[in-house]
Amino acid sequence: MTKLRAVKGMNDLLPEELGRWRRLESIFRETAERYGFGEIRTPLLEPTELFVRSIGEATDIVEKEMYTFHDKGEKNLTLRPEGTASCARAYLEHTVGAREAITRWYYLGPMFRRERPTRGRYRQFHQAGVEVYGDPGPFIDAEIIDMLVRFLSELGIVDLRVLLNSLGDQETRQNYREALIRYLEPHRGSLSADSQRRLETNPLRILDSKAPEDQAIIEDAPSILEHLSEEDQAHFDGVRRTLDRLGTPYEIEPRLVRGLDYYSRTLFEVQGRGGELGAQNALAGGGRYDGMIEELGGKATPAFGFALGIERLLLAMGEAEDESRPRVMILAANDEARVEAVALARELRDAGFNIETDLRGTSLKSQLRRADRSGAALALILGDDELARGVVQWKRLEGEGSGESPREGIASVVAELLGQKVG
Ligand code: AMP
Repeated sequence: MTKLRAVKGMNDLLPEELGRWRRLESIFRETAERYGFGEIRTPLLEPTELFVRSIGEATDIVEKEMYTFHDKGEKNLTLRPEGTASCARAYLEHTVGAREAITRWYYLGPMFRRERPTRGRYRQFHQAGVEVYGDPGPFIDAEIIDMLVRFLSELGIVDLRVLLNSLGDQETRQNYREALIRYLEPHRGSLSADSQRRLETNPLRILDSKAPEDQAIIEDAPSILEHLSEEDQAHFDGVRRTLDRLGTPYEIEPRLVRGLDYYSRTLFEVQGRGGELGAQNALAGGGRYDGMIEELGGKATPAFGFALGIERLLLAMGEAEDESRPRVMILAANDEARVEAVALARELRDAGFNIETDLRGTSLKSQLRRADRSGAALALILGDDELARGVVQWKRLEGEGSGESPREGIASVVAELLGQKVG
């Protein structure tokens, strides 16, 4: 029989890895809540049209990366490739804008894109992100970028670059698009095949082409920053002034465009350098998308947000210690002791300890061997003799030391041995 395996690019997360995940997620939640964000959870499946209309038809995601299927011939559905479109749909569906002048939402969860899997790039990956509706900026843009940088430094990720750009408003982008086409047209024959195609569909994306033959041409391309209107420029200056005041480091990168169509004005990306990050060094990205809510049928509503990739952050953090609480193993010599072991385990769990039992009919020696390898901090051992005398034997599994203590009041002994307070 062929072995069943997980879908390529979609990973199981086992308990020994999840300690780091949960720490990251809880720091993200705490940070977001400190900045006034409330959590939103949206479905993993959405009507395909939502993503086509918001992300844009001529993007890599919509052109080739979405997992789309017919739901028994009824509707075309897509596994969400990102969170912003779903949040915007929910914001509209629940008429949140009519009730709140400003809305701050955060989310965490799996996203799906049919990309070529490699280290740091998967087909099911996890993002954490925030969205703010109702504030046209520029100060909020800086506040949120700074929040992200502070979150990353709390995780210990300090070796990073913040790239900042402005894409201007729709008119600016239209003018710039024309200028860019005028510049690129004479070089058409020397561009990569992908870029030649994008010249028709999405010329701005040529600016973040990685193809070697495109580099010299991109180098001399006109800059969008030279095409900003007065209002765009004032907005950009406001973002910069606030970041400067906060001391948040950033670099202006006029060639930053990113892969989604919905951005306007502020656009940014955070790149990491340390840990085990390879070529996939984009940790987070985001910006302003003032046109999306209207595009989806709502009232014009300014919006700003970002998303970060949890897998990439974990790679950037390197192999940090798993900080889950120490565990205690309870071992038993025979069936009578196993009955007592279950009772003792419940008592200690009620007192707040993490307890694992070994209730198989194996010898104490083999149970001890397993306990030694398990990563638990302490073993408690019950046998005939211990039951008769009302005591429990204990053995440290990290470091040296063993002894015996009365069964009564064993919780405080365990707490002392683990160096923690009784729960
Ligand atoms: P985006 O939604 O494309 O703006 O991406 C935001 C962040 O999500 C990126 O900076 C990455 O950290 C992460 N990300 C995007 N695509 C993937 C993927 N296929 N695998 C892992 N992480 C991803």
